[in-house]
Amino acid sequence: MARLKSLKPVVSSLKPRISYLKVDYDQTRRERYDWRKWYGLARWKALRLRVLERDGFTCQDCGRMDHDTSRLHADHKRAHRGDPSLFWDEQNVQCLCERCHNGAKQRAERRGRV
Ligand SMILES: [Zn+2]
Repeated sequence: MARLKSLKPVVSSLKPRISYLKVDYDQTRRERYDWRKWYGLARWKALRLRVLERDGFTCQDCGRMDHDTSRLHADHKRAHRGDPSLFWDEQNVQCLCERCHNGAKQRAERRGRV
């Protein structure tokens, strides 16, 4: 028992290297996708509504109007990819209907054209 007690001060002075690495990795991941939580902010909800009103609840691609705002998307014309100046720029946001937003627009983004 005396030997175990003498080990204690040595062990407690060692740096927990593995846990440091894990924390850094998790933090990097969190920061990379941090912008996702911007969509949950009151600031975004207000911006989205302003854009839908500005565009007259009308899809800026096909011209379809929808009174149900849950089916309308506030779409970033230029993909923001986490860039706050593009994300929060009202002039970079347009009203799109569900079909236009989920169809051609997203296919183009995946190809990296937008
Ligand atoms: Zn449309």
